[in-house]
Amino acid sequence: AVERSRLLDRLIDEQAAAQPERFRVLTGDRPTGPLHVGHLLASLRNRVRLQQRGVETFVVIADYQVVTDRDAVGDIGENVHGLVLDYLAAGLDPDRTTIFTHSAVPALGQLVLPFLSLVTDGELRRNPTVKDELALSGGRPLSGLLLTYPVHQAADILFCHGRVVPVGRDQLPHLELTRQLARRFNARYAGGQPVFAEPEALLSDVPLLLGTDGTKMSKSRGNTINLRDTADETADRIRAARTDGERRITYEPVRRPEVANLLRLAGLFTGESPQTVAERVGDSGAAGLKRVVTEAVNDGLAGHRARRRQLAGDPASVTAVLHEGNRRANEVAERTLATVRAVMGMAY
Ligand code: ATP
Ligand code: MG
Repeated sequence: AVERSRLLDRLIDEQAAAQPERFRVLTGDRPTGPLHVGHLLASLRNRVRLQQRGVETFVVIADYQVVTDRDAVGDIGENVHGLVLDYLAAGLDPDRTTIFTHSAVPALGQLVLPFLSLVTDGELRRNPTVKDELALSGGRPLSGLLLTYPVHQAADILFCHGRVVPVGRDQLPHLELTRQLARRFNARYAGGQPVFAEPEALLSDVPLLLGTDGTKMSKSRGNTINLRDTADETADRIRAARTDGERRITYEPVRRPEVANLLRLAGLFTGESPQTVAERVGDSGAAGLKRVVTEAVNDGLAGHRARRRQLAGDPASVTAVLHEGNRRANEVAERTLATVRAVMGMAY
């Protein structure tokens, strides 16, 4: 999958502008909290890049997925609103990108049913990302929703015939499942007709950004550097990041993963390689490293943050973006559902 993503990355530069329909994008986020730099680097930047080449883009805000690993949805309205602000601030254009909430598109729920028939409980239980998420959910039993959410996600990708899915590394098992479901649907229910094409994951240079505690940066883990944070909050978060006690800063991903993560993070905002950032920090130890990283992140996010503040002054326009996105997503989903029912002989 990593190899295929590299190839796809090249094809986007060579062909997407000429044949945008072959690169249609679907991706999304859970409204569990504010977006962090991992989202920007791993997924948002690629979304904007494809949009700029004229590729039609869909972004699902996966609101039902919030309760895969917790009992309540929390401040979900506020989180959804915050996601839209970050999308717009990052450069997603609502005239060209359909931004919608899962719960507003009922046909997606029905599309899940044939897909569920194409997967076994053993396959669902072996999904490594689901296992990780279960382990992190504090001793909760495995709910039916957590077990099956990769299938729901497959429906979210396939309903709009998404071909390119810009994501982080934790999503690769779900993409593999989506590809299998597309193949199995075509073979079992459509007599081999290509009703659904197999989508590809598109990874970025940061398929897995670590958080300030050295584990995957995650909205739910309190280890994030958020896009909406102030420069001072960012400095505090980076100051608290785990590093090591060596004076000389070097880029050694295996021996010094936390230091390497910070070097990569800075380099992704300044355009330097992590080695170059390390040379720049030299012998000034963890404190010097953190100063350099803080400056790189704050400078790199200044434009985003200013745009976000401005957009936040007009909440009605965020609601309008969602309503229009939901309308368009419903239209596409109804059409796909009609095709599915027709090929399955259910068009009575
Ligand atoms: P949560 O803790 O609530 O699951 P999250 O930070 O994992 O939040 P998601 O909404 O689950 O965010 O994921 C949205 C997208 O961002 C996915 O494509 C995911 O792969 C990507 N992503 C999330 N965290 C990282 C990370 N640390 N590095 C790279 N990509 C990431
Ligand atoms: Mg997640």
